[in-house]
Amino acid sequence: MDATLEAQLNLRRQEHLYRTRLNVASGCASTQWVEGHSLVNFCSNDYLGLAGHKDITQALKQAADLYGTGSGASHLVSGHSVVHHKLEEQLAAFSGRPRALLFSSGYMANMGAINALVGRRDLVLQDQLNHASLLDGGRLSQADFKRYKHVDMVSLEQRLEQSSAPRKLLVTDGVFSMDGNLAPLEKISALAAKHSAWLMVDDAHGIGVLGHRGGGLTEELGMGLDQVPVLVGTLGKSFGTFGAFVAGSEALIETLIQFSRSYIYTTALPPAIAAATLASLKIVREETWRRDKLVTLVARFRDGAEQIGLQLGESNTPIQPVLINSDEKVMQVGQQLRSAGFLVGAIRPPTVPAGTGRLRITLSANHSEEQVDQLVAALDSLNLGAAN
Ligand SMILES: *Cc1c(COP(=O)(O)O)cnc(C)c1O
Repeated sequence: MDATLEAQLNLRRQEHLYRTRLNVASGCASTQWVEGHSLVNFCSNDYLGLAGHKDITQALKQAADLYGTGSGASHLVSGHSVVHHKLEEQLAAFSGRPRALLFSSGYMANMGAINALVGRRDLVLQDQLNHASLLDGGRLSQADFKRYKHVDMVSLEQRLEQSSAPRKLLVTDGVFSMDGNLAPLEKISALAAKHSAWLMVDDAHGIGVLGHRGGGLTEELGMGLDQVPVLVGTLGKSFGTFGAFVAGSEALIETLIQFSRSYIYTTALPPAIAAATLASLKIVREETWRRDKLVTLVARFRDGAEQIGLQLGESNTPIQPVLINSDEKVMQVGQQLRSAGFLVGAIRPPTVPAGTGRLRITLSANHSEEQVDQLVAALDSLNLGAAN
């Protein structure tokens, strides 16, 4: 076995696609200790800066005193605590939907929802740049699995027209995770209605960040249950805790409870995590200054980066890709930035299409304007504008 695996690993190294992990010695924050160096973190998904928030940590500790560490069972056996239930009620109200259901992670929510909604003879249609968990959910379902060109409404409608499947599930990221751009949800929802397809939106990077109250892209666009019947949000990003939820109608949520295998066959989240998320939800809703600050930081970064000639993506969200266009060079640049004191995502295939290697810079309400300026100065010293 090992000889076969080593050969495969060596190939991965030769393609400059070998992945390694960093050992991080401090909690998620704007500055972190990483393997003996203090680095400014520009790659977490902690957009609102809540992963280390005092009140949320305090809620976790207090709940741990009451409920211990583990839930001990799945939701359908004895793991569904009153704290999970209260969180589901508040997440439903937050997303403007009748009900919400907690999952142990976003990956599991996506796998579970798609597989509960479609099966043999049905169609599942996805944007080609959807998150891996959505694509995997589509593959695992026995439905006919098709992708359309990224945010391309012509390609999308062609595929809808070609299908006579009894159920058609149309699935898209709200904010695309590697590019930071938005799905044209109003157009997508109109096409879904025209072709009697069900629309599922994974707003992992929009929840908390977009919309006045942090309700995400659907709040920003004023899209309710009729337009987006299946809404997925994750709790490990803006919320700074862990887990995920699906929000929708009574019938949707009951269907997931009955048929979602990744809901049924797994241990419920620790109740203390649900309690921490309740504390987090209050801050997400009320502290609108965190979203305002992000808007300021994003504009500042983009202005600075444009001035030094960097190739940015079409994004006004805290996800700011800097295209490097060589999958090998992107690793070098990532390393150089680390030497200069900055931790940024260096993203290569298969996470993104071949030849579209990029820095994935993410901003957080915990960053200062000075830190953003320092990052731009470090990027400037690498002469990336000229090399592109
Ligand atoms: C992070 C992410 C997920 C997975 O969520 P986890 O809770 O981390 O498993 C799903 N969808 C998108 C778009 C994501 O970015």
